[in-house]
Amino acid sequence: MIYMDYNATAPVHPEVLEALLPFYRESFGNPSSIHWAGRRVKAAVEEARDKVASFLRCAPVEVVFTSSGTEADNMAIKGVASAHCGKGNHIITTCVEHPAVLNTCRYLERKGYDVTWLEVGHDGLLDPASLEECITDRTILISTMLANNEIGTIFPIREIGEIAARHRIYFHCDAVQAAGKIPIDCREMNVSLLAVSGHKLGAPQGIGVLVVRQGVKAHPLIHGGAQERNRRAGTENVAGIVALGKACELAQASLSSESARLRELRDRLENGILSSLPDVRINGDREKRLPNTANISFTGVEADSLLVNLDLAGIAVSSGAACSSGTLRTSHVLSAMGVEHALAKGSVRFSLGRENSAADVDYLLRELPEIVRRLRK
Ligand code: PLP
Repeated sequence: MIYMDYNATAPVHPEVLEALLPFYRESFGNPSSIHWAGRRVKAAVEEARDKVASFLRCAPVEVVFTSSGTEADNMAIKGVASAHCGKGNHIITTCVEHPAVLNTCRYLERKGYDVTWLEVGHDGLLDPASLEECITDRTILISTMLANNEIGTIFPIREIGEIAARHRIYFHCDAVQAAGKIPIDCREMNVSLLAVSGHKLGAPQGIGVLVVRQGVKAHPLIHGGAQERNRRAGTENVAGIVALGKACELAQASLSSESARLRELRDRLENGILSSLPDVRINGDREKRLPNTANISFTGVEADSLLVNLDLAGIAVSSGAACSSGTLRTSHVLSAMGVEHALAKGSVRFSLGRENSAADVDYLLRELPEIVRRLRK
């Protein structure tokens, strides 16, 4: 069985599992309790917070634990919209965001907010000048992703952060897909809010982070107790938080070697496919891209048929985002890039990660060309 769908989710790292298990066994406790059991888990939560902050280059007090990347995105966008509706109602985002941002902005549009949807080029990249032109004195938030989940393209976040800072507008960055694959520095990127998800990083599903820089005013999404400095109520997911801290520590230690290794594997995969099949196209800029992601269009092939046939050969890949697969719509990211419908329908995402080896890529390269030829016939 070969898993090449790391952008959907990644297996839990064995060291992360080891770190979290005691918190489901003997190390129980509620971090808000003042007795020994509470203090024990409170210390573990704060240690994890330090690790996450060091990984994302922000202050520990700026780390707010959430249940997912989706919750972090919702909390950032709705929280800022609600806290700043007196100043303005204009939000700038892009057409290629993950549904966690797209649908949150669509929801706010229905509530009367004014949303500008920025286009991307044929290469999937964003022009920061076009973003600056859209700013008005009613703009309260810019929300863009750092790296695209479907094609891996990386947006010019520092430039966007500079623009936002110059105009004194909050900048939310969805870094869910970038974390653990490229370096993140909240201070240098000038972000006000930044979202990350544990399960893309080797932590389990059900834990995420929203970095809320000091001084940023955003209303909470969930009301209740005073957890997370009143930013996110609810008893903490202690085991998940400990796991995320460990996953960040491990990702930080291996980031540069692992991204070089994955880039090499990804290039081997792409070059192998390009040299064995005609009428194949790689989507998105080939340089400004995550090292692990390849989005490839196969002319004359339906992606779903290709997926099923690869699955029969034990290979797990996806067509676009995991949350929209199963629907027969073509990717909103590929349509925004101007990829024609027939080609977009035959597009598959290969996303590599920690457990992939050259042998996995070679196995794929033995199986895939034959399947594509058969489907084309
Ligand atoms: N943002 C991006 C760019 C993503 O790729 C994803 C998940 O695929 C999310 C947000 C949502 O994260 P989660 O699955 O933790 O809700």
